[in-house]
Amino acid sequence: MTCFINEDLIVKMLGEARFASRKLAAKIIEKAGRAGGIESAEAAVLLQAEDPEIIAGICRAARMVKEEIYGRRVVFFAPLYISNYCVNNCRYCGYRRDNKFERRLLSKKEIIEEVKILLSAGHKRVALECGEDPARCSIDYVLEAIETIYLVREGNGSIRRINVNIAATTVENYKKLKDAGIGTYVLFQETYHRPTYARMHPAGPKSDYEWHLTAMNRAVAGCIDDVGVGVLFGLHDFKFEVLSLLLHVRYLEESAGVGPHTISVPRLRPAPGVDLLQFPYLVSDSDFKKLVAVLRLAVPYTGLILSTRERPSLRSELISLGVSQLSAGSSTGVGGYGNRAKAGSSAGNGEADTQFSVEDRRTLDEVVGDVCRTGYLPSFCTACYRQGRTGERFMAMAKSGLIQDLCTPNALLTLQEYLLDYASPETIVAGERVIKDQVSLIGCPSMRFLTGIKLQEIKRGERDLFF
Ligand code: SAM
Ligand code: SF4
Repeated sequence: MTCFINEDLIVKMLGEARFASRKLAAKIIEKAGRAGGIESAEAAVLLQAEDPEIIAGICRAARMVKEEIYGRRVVFFAPLYISNYCVNNCRYCGYRRDNKFERRLLSKKEIIEEVKILLSAGHKRVALECGEDPARCSIDYVLEAIETIYLVREGNGSIRRINVNIAATTVENYKKLKDAGIGTYVLFQETYHRPTYARMHPAGPKSDYEWHLTAMNRAVAGCIDDVGVGVLFGLHDFKFEVLSLLLHVRYLEESAGVGPHTISVPRLRPAPGVDLLQFPYLVSDSDFKKLVAVLRLAVPYTGLILSTRERPSLRSELISLGVSQLSAGSSTGVGGYGNRAKAGSSAGNGEADTQFSVEDRRTLDEVVGDVCRTGYLPSFCTACYRQGRTGERFMAMAKSGLIQDLCTPNALLTLQEYLLDYASPETIVAGERVIKDQVSLIGCPSMRFLTGIKLQEIKRGERDLFF
């Protein structure tokens, strides 16, 4: 069942790719630039490239593919940590069970307070996060949290999509999550390399590699059609991990009929009780850029998610290389948004007991403003999920290019909504400029016309959005 991560095959592909000629690498880059994806063995050749000219070619092709498929759009979300109880002992994590600090789980009232803070910043989409503790943080508690979050209203805002990043679970529980109306179910394999996995996960249910690896099979069996995969970069060789991710993607495409909706690229960060010097596979910035670009070329239609683990300047560069979703204004602590507000701050991580430290401590408004100033289009759209454009249906529309004529207008309308309700004067100026530039780029003339009308309505404060 789990032979899709064939370690010998991966090592062989990487070994052969070491001797690939520049001519072959150039040919692969040319193919990748046509936005039709590349094979894992071809990705291996690009991952092994050290020649600056070849790397520049990979980055150029990734920029073209990003532009062709996503235009200038970047989707925003924030994590919401509801519990830091955990029975696992993951070596890299501040929440591991051997770390001694006062654990907590948010009450319903506290969840509402956290969500109101996120809504008043302008967020519409959250990633729900918690440690694994079936007794103290049960599936029923998670389901109630989801229900609570969807019901919160603050001003004109509500959370329109909850993605869920919780421990691997049973088909029955995945069905419950589906019924609760989640968007994407996200789970990182952390490392696909079995010996490293065993070392990093010495105790608790997460120590079972097979159980963790097959979580997406069960999620799909539980009728969840958008799943998100990822690797915690820094635990093992990044080239091995990228090829494993691609094998996982191909396996899901074949077995479930559709690949993952998203791939996350978290990179290991300092955390309470975690000494980065103990991790020999930390990924440099230049390798990180290369791996993001190679992923964009290998799976052009899969969203790439980047978090506030990375610093602002690097985040900007990675957007152009293929990242399509960003978290912003994040706290990685339970109750972190409330703590931050009490401390009189609107940015930063919010509290001492965080899972790991973040590098981008800007507010959502600052990130949105900066993204606009670099010519990208922030989007708060959640329409696909709300209109049932998920799983295979989404992928079919994405691959035919049809999705562009929906995504760009929706991004423009939700950005206009954000500017009206939440943005600072500087961000309004930057956002309006992007909107003006982008309207003219909508391919379908009637959609362009309609978008213009809707933008005027939203400017006047009339909220009849498309989605
Ligand atoms: N507890 C569940 C689990 O581990 O699957 C849910 C996800 S956990 C809240 C979110 C993710 O944070 C983990 O999957 C891991 O990849 C990441 N993480 C943990 N420690 C980290 C660190 N020191 N630096 C960066 N990311 C880290
Ligand atoms: Fe627990 Fe997840 Fe942290 Fe592991 S990564 S210790 S499972 S919260």
